Amino acid sequence: MKGQRISLDELHEECGVLGIYGVEDASHRAFLGLEALQHRGQQACGLAVCGPDRRLRIRKGAGLVRDVFPEESLSTLPGDTCIGHVRYPTTAVGGRENIQPFSITSKAGTFAYAHNGNIVNADEIKASLEEHGHLFQSTSDSELFAHLIGMGANADGWVRSIIAAANQLDGAFSTVVLAGGILYACRDKYGFRPLSVGRLEGGYAVASETCALNAMGAEFLRDIEPGELVVIGPDGIQSYRHSQHPGRYMCAMEFIYFARPDSDIEGCNVHAFRKRTGRLLFEEHPVPADIVVGVPDSSLSAAMGYSEASGIPLERGLLKNIYVARTFIQPAQSLRDLGVRMKMSPIRSVVESKSLILIDDSIVRGTTSRQIVRLLRDAGAREVHMLIASPKYAWPCFYGIDTGTSDQLIGASHTEQEICEFIGADSLHYLSEQALLQASCRTTLCTACFSGHYPTALYGADE
Ligand code: AMP
Ligand code: SF4
Repeated sequence: MKGQRISLDELHEECGVLGIYGVEDASHRAFLGLEALQHRGQQACGLAVCGPDRRLRIRKGAGLVRDVFPEESLSTLPGDTCIGHVRYPTTAVGGRENIQPFSITSKAGTFAYAHNGNIVNADEIKASLEEHGHLFQSTSDSELFAHLIGMGANADGWVRSIIAAANQLDGAFSTVVLAGGILYACRDKYGFRPLSVGRLEGGYAVASETCALNAMGAEFLRDIEPGELVVIGPDGIQSYRHSQHPGRYMCAMEFIYFARPDSDIEGCNVHAFRKRTGRLLFEEHPVPADIVVGVPDSSLSAAMGYSEASGIPLERGLLKNIYVARTFIQPAQSLRDLGVRMKMSPIRSVVESKSLILIDDSIVRGTTSRQIVRLLRDAGAREVHMLIASPKYAWPCFYGIDTGTSDQLIGASHTEQEICEFIGADSLHYLSEQALLQASCRTTLCTACFSGHYPTALYGADE
């Protein structure tokens, strides 16, 4: 990738969304759902609730769901229909004006909007709108989508304006809109980010992950299709298409790292997927060792799979302090290094004088792996063989997973041998792309960060 015009830090937001229609005390249910989506975003969250008076009330702020929504705050958000959002931290998008849901006032009334994913032609569309005098409150490209919806909104209703907006935008979006007491939920035509719908008491719920549907007490009905707009109102669920050419480009990293293991993505359970990657990793790279250790938490399922397939015992060689935030939230490299030590401790009696297979889901910058290998060696491990339950991550993501620019990706500039030396392992092996697809039980996924084959045009960024 040559000189990029757009700063990736500006572009990238990792998020989760949900919506509820027709359920008493919707905000209380939404709170449970947002907590279940907390892994998708810990920097900020918000709820927009449509009250019995049809007024939209919004509460949002920086912090975890339980901090932004103390129990008593939920009763100040009465209503049976709402949308919610959690956002992941990135370095340059910390302003309050970027916290969702957004509320936009249009000719057809005020509506609320929340979004997961990244629009790749945002700069082009924004520039042309600004030329025509439009003002934006935030630096988030999600606001752009909301703006386009508001521009097109008229007496004909919202379906047409949401479809028109979706048609102008390219990239990844799983979006929820609350307008006139009706809930709208829409996925981009590629299907990068998940979004599912469930039945909840007398009403319905939608959420980025099925674990949030479960947490809210909803019964899973189906996934919203790529290119589909679902409208949930007094007549139940209605389905429209904003694109006739849906693709099947679910983000592979949702399966590998991002989603919760108890979620099902397009019919495939995430834990089961990860376990299969572990089994396939053994088929592709059978390494003799005393024990298998998974990097907690995201790699425990893959480690289980490797252990089962190889017969090498699975051990708990590393312990994670869950009260320390993810290392990626530390913008400076030095702090990130420290973060790993605060976050992870080896169990000396388990690893001492052992040859071990260390399974991680991915190597992005290389910092975490290097630190973990060092921790294990300091604790007496004799050999550390690093096995990665995904292919070599070498290309930046433009669709909403924050892994940094290509100069920060160790796989973009280093060979496997060089990476192995950098992290200080005895050997390093990756899963093949073919095995990744096999584990997902499907024929296509977005695997652009491994292959460099992006499903969309990249507009501002040079390939
Ligand atoms: P590193 O190689 O230091 O960049 O860190 C790799 C670790 O970060 C792996 O253990 C992954 O579980 C985790 N990881 C992978 N992708 C992401 C992401 N987008 N955000 C935060 N952590 C990630
Ligand atoms: Fe996911 Fe990678 Fe595709 Fe981004 S490029 S959507 S991280 S698979």
